[in-house]
Formats: sequence, structure tokens, C-alpha cells
Amino acid sequence: MPEVNTHTMKRELSKGEVVIDNVSVRFTSRNVENLAVKATSVKIKPGEFVCILGPSGSGKSTLLNCVAGFVKPSDGCVLVDDIEITEPGPDRGMVFQQYSLFPWQTIRENIAMGPLVTGRAKGDPYEVADTFLDMIGLNAYADSYPKELSGGMQQRVGIARALANYPDVLLMDEPFGALDSQTRLMMQQNLLDIWREFGITVLFVTHDVDEAVYLADRVLIMSAGPGEIIADISIDIARPRGIDVMSSPEFSQFRNVCHEKIRAESIRAFEKQTNKSGGKSTN
Ligand code: ADP
Ligand code: MG
Repeated sequence: MPEVNTHTMKRELSKGEVVIDNVSVRFTSRNVENLAVKATSVKIKPGEFVCILGPSGSGKSTLLNCVAGFVKPSDGCVLVDDIEITEPGPDRGMVFQQYSLFPWQTIRENIAMGPLVTGRAKGDPYEVADTFLDMIGLNAYADSYPKELSGGMQQRVGIARALANYPDVLLMDEPFGALDSQTRLMMQQNLLDIWREFGITVLFVTHDVDEAVYLADRVLIMSAGPGEIIADISIDIARPRGIDVMSSPEFSQFRNVCHEKIRAESIRAFEKQTNKSGGKSTN
């Protein structure tokens, strides 16, 4: 994968503060209420790389969707740079696990879409798209369609498309979950390069401990439902981080801390379940 070339992409570094203030989310289906996120508060500094780590169903996507503006909190609120989030906006870019590119548009058109619609990027939208194509090293595919690209390439386009609006916050929901481990590793390194160049705030959801520790300044661990943050761990590993950092003693230490918190939480959730079923084994 090529070096990231972001020569014209410096942004205003003081922007991108995210405050999640006492957010709860309840969903009701068939008259049954489910508390997906429970009274969660956290403050994320501009430019921080934060991973939200937790088991499936712990409310990670729901919390991220509150920041994106796709889900409205039942209680509490989310503020980005002191403005309450009520809907999606171009100040927040989103990357999903499924590449979600428009299949009927070329790669260049997909990336140019945001600049065309929002006008946040300065200059001609197609020139902006070309700059970002350059950044992800896919200029040769400008006129190709998404189905002609591999999964990893499509996800690079997804990231470029999100960044082409010059957002202050990048929201990523298990973006590399569908990729093979080699591609995933390259994507992680590439993302760190992009993040370093942009100085953008990143909220990255994953259920993979190694991915979280490798990428993050801070790992927030969410409990099994109802989801709440049960640990906030600063990953004090020097940057830039090459892959070799993953075999260092300090990396193992942080990995163990995360695993321990998750294990303790799984035991707690299991005990809660067995208490509910009157202590009877389900085996
Ligand atoms: P995660 O991303 O950690 O796997 P989610 O945020 O997707 O967890 O889900 C948390 C809980 O909220 C789950 O119990 C899930 O079934 C429920 N949930 C999520 N989205 C909806 C929705 N749109 N309607 C009803 N329930 C939902
Ligand atoms: Mg999810």
C-alpha cells in the first residue's frame, strides 16, 4: 500500500471535541422495551483516536449512531464542539463495515458526492476527489465501478469518501471486520497514517482487542447489555506504531488489561443471567 499523500489536507486542529452526556437509548419492539445504552458519559478531545470495544450487542453501534445523528438518545445528549447533535451532518464522516458505495457511480463520482452536495471542501468536487484518490493510491481506478474493486480497496474508497467532506470527526463501525487479516493490518496502518496527517478525531468501534490497542489513544470498554462504559484505558504506546509494536511487552500488557476487564464483565453478565433463571443450569 502506498504512503499516504495528504499535502493539501491540513484542517483546523482545535475542532472535533465530542461530549457524550448521560446518554441512554431505549428501543421498543413488540411492546417490549430494551435498554441498549445505559446512562453513558464520556468526553473525547479534538484529534483523539478512541476505540469503543465490547461484545456483540453491547450498544457500540447504537452509541456511535447517536454521535452520527442516526439515533436520538432517549435521555441525555451528544455535543460536537458544543453543538447538540440532532441529525447527521457533514462535520461527521461515517464508515460502515459494509462498504456502502453507490454501485452505479464510478469511484471518482462516489468520492466527489460529498463535496458536490455539502460544499464543505474548497474547489472543484472532482479535483477534491482526485486528491483523495491520490491519498489512497487508487488513481488508476478513478473510472472503475465499486464491484471491480476488492473489499480492501472498496473500504479505502469508503474512508476517502468520508474524508472528502473534511469532517471534524470520523466515525467507523467495525470498518475492517469483513477483511482478511493481512489486508486488515495494512488498512489499520494506513488509517493511522491518515489520522496523523489530518489530526481528525476518530471514534472506532471494534470487538477485536488487538485492533483496539494497536490503533487507540484510549480504549472504552462497553459491558454486555445494557451497554455502558465499564473501563476507560489510556494506551500509552509511543507513535508512530509499526506492526512490530504488537509483539512488544507493553502491547501484551495493554492487551491483558483489556482481556481482564472483558472477562470480568462476561462473568458478571453470566452470573446475572443465571440468577435470573433461578440459578438453574441451561445445559
Ligand atoms: P453492538 O453494535 O455492540 O453489537 P448494537 O448497538 O447494535 O450493539 O445493539 C445494542 C442492543 O440494541 C441490542 O440488544 C440490539 O438488539 C438493540 N438494537 C439496536 N438497534 C436497534 C433498533 N433499531 N431497534 C431495536 N433494537 C435495536
Ligand atoms: Mg454493531
